[in-house]
Amino acid sequence: MSFPLSLQRDQSLRTLNTFGIDAKAAAFLRVDSVDVLRAMRADPALAAMRRLVLGGGSNLLLTSDFDGLVLHMTNRGVAVTGEDDDHVYVTAQAGENWHGFVQWTLAHGLPGLENLSLIPGSVGASPIQNIGAYGSEMADYFHSLTAFDIGTGEMMTLDRSACAFGYRDSVFKHALRDRAVIVEVTFALPKRWQPNLRYAELVAEVAARGISTPTAQYISAAVVAIRTRKLPDPAQIGNAGSFFKNPVVSAAQRAELLAAHPQLVSYPQADGSYKLAAGWLIDQCGWKGKSLGAAGVHEKQALVLVNRGSATGTELLRLAERISEDVKQRFGVRLEIEPVVVS
Ligand SMILES: Cc1cc2nc3c(=O)[nH]c(=O)nc-3n(C[C@H](O)[C@H](O)[C@H](O)COP(=O)(O)OP(=O)(O)OC[C@H]3O[C@@H](n4cnc5c(N)ncnc54)[C@H](O)[C@@H]3O)c2cc1C
Repeated sequence: MSFPLSLQRDQSLRTLNTFGIDAKAAAFLRVDSVDVLRAMRADPALAAMRRLVLGGGSNLLLTSDFDGLVLHMTNRGVAVTGEDDDHVYVTAQAGENWHGFVQWTLAHGLPGLENLSLIPGSVGASPIQNIGAYGSEMADYFHSLTAFDIGTGEMMTLDRSACAFGYRDSVFKHALRDRAVIVEVTFALPKRWQPNLRYAELVAEVAARGISTPTAQYISAAVVAIRTRKLPDPAQIGNAGSFFKNPVVSAAQRAELLAAHPQLVSYPQADGSYKLAAGWLIDQCGWKGKSLGAAGVHEKQALVLVNRGSATGTELLRLAERISEDVKQRFGVRLEIEPVVVS
C-alpha cells in the first residue's frame, strides 16, 4: 500500500513537549485523520515500530531520543452532536487544543467545563489521566470516546464505565496502554447548570471580584486568573504542571501523620481516605526553589519541576527520585510521578 502522508525522520521534539526537552523521534507522522492510522498499520515497517501517541506534549517526560514512531494528533473539529432533556452532546476531535475547546463550549452557551479552563494539552489526551482542577474532573462531563485499536485496526467506542476513570487514571494507562489511539471525545454538558464552587481558592477569587451569581464564563476567567498567577507558563520555563500525584492514605495513616506533623495538609475523600498535598510534603523537605543542575523545583509551586535551561529528562528524573526519597524518609509516604515517562 502506498503511504498517503510524508513520514519525517529524526524529527526534533523540543518544541512539541512543554518541558522543552531536546529529544528526537526516529520517525514522525502527523495524524489528521483515521486514514493515516490505517495506512500506518498497513505498512509493515511502520507497524513494527514502537509508537508514542503525542498530543500537546504537556504531560510527558522524554528521557532519551525516541527510537520509534511518534503519532502526533492534529485532527481538528468541534460540533454539537445531539441533545436530550438533560444534556447537550458535544464532540471534539483529539487534536483540538483543550482550552480552546472549553472556550468554544462557553462561547456557544454550553457551560460545564469552565473549572478545567487553561489546562494545557489536547482533547484526545484529556481522558488519559482524567484531567482535573478546581474541584472538577473531565470524567464528570464525559459521555464516550472513539479510539482506533492499533492491535486490530478496528474503531472502538468506550463509554464512561469502560474508561474506568479514577484520580489521574483511566483504562488507557493500563489495559489499553499503547493500544488505543483516541480519535474523538464526546462530552455531555448539563442543560441545568449549577456553578461548581467547591474549591476554596476559586470561591475566594470569585468573591474578591464582588460577584454573587457568577456565570460559567466568569468562573472560567477566575480560573484563568488563578492559574496564570500560580503556575509557571511553559512558554517561559519548561514544565509539565504537577510532577507528582497527591498521595492518598488511609484515615489511620493520616491520623498518625497529623500527630507528628500538625500542619499536614490533607483533603477527605468520599471513601474515607485522605489525599495529602504532595506540594506541602515536598516543601517541608526543603526542596522548593532548589535545583540539581538545570533541573529545578519551582520557587512558588514545590509540586512543579522545571527545566531551567538545558536539563535532560534523565536529570529531571534524578531530581524527582531525590525528592521522593526525602518525602518517603520523612513522612513514610511514596510519591508517584504524574507525567508519562518516555524512554
Ligand atoms: C502548566 C501545566 C499545568 C497543568 N495543569 C494540569 C491540571 O490542572 N490538571 C491536570 O489534570 N493536568 C494538568 N497538566 C497536565 C497536562 O496538561 C494534561 O495531562 C493534558 O491532558 C496532557 O495533554 P497533552 O495533549 O499535552 O498530552 P501529551 O503530553 O501529549 O500525552 C500525555 C499522554 O497521553 C497520551 N496521549 C495523548 N494523546 C492521546 C490520544 N489521542 N490517544 C491516546 N493516547 C494519547 C500520550 O501517549 C501520553 O501517554 C498541566 C500541565 C502543564 C504544563
